Amino acid sequence: MNPKEMSVEETRKVIRSYLVPVVDTEKLPLKSALSRILAEELSSPENVPNFNNSAMDGYAFNLSDHIQSEQITLEIIGTSLAGKPYPGSIKKGACIRIMTGAIVPNETDTVIPQENVKLDGNKITFTNNLKVNANVRFSGEDLEKGQKVLDKGHLIRPADLGLIASIGLEEVNVFRKIKVAFFTTGSEIASIDKELQSGQIHDSNRYTIFGMLSRLGLDFLDMGSIPDDPARLESALLDASKNADVVITSGGVSVGEADYMKELLAKHGDILSWKIAMKPGRPLAFGKIKNTYYFGLPGNPVAVMVTFYQIVKESILTLMGQTNPKTLPVLEAICIENINKIKGRMEFQRGILFETNDGSWKVKPTPNQSSGVLSSMSLANCFIILEEDEKEVLAGSTVKIQLMDCFI
Ligand code: AMP
Ligand code: MG
Repeated sequence: MNPKEMSVEETRKVIRSYLVPVVDTEKLPLKSALSRILAEELSSPENVPNFNNSAMDGYAFNLSDHIQSEQITLEIIGTSLAGKPYPGSIKKGACIRIMTGAIVPNETDTVIPQENVKLDGNKITFTNNLKVNANVRFSGEDLEKGQKVLDKGHLIRPADLGLIASIGLEEVNVFRKIKVAFFTTGSEIASIDKELQSGQIHDSNRYTIFGMLSRLGLDFLDMGSIPDDPARLESALLDASKNADVVITSGGVSVGEADYMKELLAKHGDILSWKIAMKPGRPLAFGKIKNTYYFGLPGNPVAVMVTFYQIVKESILTLMGQTNPKTLPVLEAICIENINKIKGRMEFQRGILFETNDGSWKVKPTPNQSSGVLSSMSLANCFIILEEDEKEVLAGSTVKIQLMDCFI
């Protein structure tokens, strides 16, 4: 398959249809499972919490006994601390001092916060403006016994670590780590420990690719930079395919004279797509070399990042076993500047979302939108997404944006 120009959505769909997620699993101690994909459905063996407890520091008593009284006076007969329950029984007219998280005894149904009572010796008095069960957190309020907690295929985030801990699991089954090998290509590329000769540039792509991969829970193999020499590129490609589940390269996939990557891929594997109606990032190669997936990113530094975030990242998460990984949510913001655009390609402009004096948030494009200007990515905090059939944007109109910084 070698379509002329595919939409971004179509490209995602085609790639997705060829991806076969890993099946092997491993059992890991809980903390090591962060950013990994759950390989089993988890359900709760117990109610969480498994006892009724107080949401406030105050006094627990049975409001049902005093429903008619406007003023209630109770005798304090004991204390329930978190982890140290009150052992006795509680009769009508009595209450216990109770702390947040402590067991609310069966004979009581309500907690009055300490700041709402008048304390006099071992008695409290307060106005009855409470509802039965006020300030009580019930057993099973978070999770009920047997309830599904997390799905198989779920990406484990910090909240999930806590949630799994709350049901008392020390270990979880996750899908095995996938390994991603990457190298950059180009005879003009110099590694950062070398002084630049005439016509050379430092290898920035290898660092952005490293950074983007590092945020996913996977193993990677940095294979350096390879000059535009077909024999060396071929051996690097074959090497990578032997040692990794996925190979990512940058550069050499357009139609320049020294762009050998697609020839090599045609020789050793299957190529699935070449041109995408997106800017930046038009050339993208996707295919397989034996059992290894191949993503040939463009060379331009911004195009590398945009194609990775918009297409490659969700493909890798799918391979890692995540069920239907989502692209970043698309929000709306008012753009304060005109943006030039020609119809026909979906654009991912680098945007700056900023807070205005009136507290609302607006967006503007970074000054230089060239796909070679990596400083525009560092300056930006969002993408401004302009659809394929959109033309120029006028200042004051609403645009779609995607935030680059996420919680995870
Ligand atoms: P290519 O797709 O190989 O023609 O590269 C497109 C542009 O991206 C050229 O200007 C390259 O010099 C630049 N480029 C390619 N690889 C890198 C890299 N690793 N780091 C920085 N710039 C690169
Ligand atoms: Mg090149």
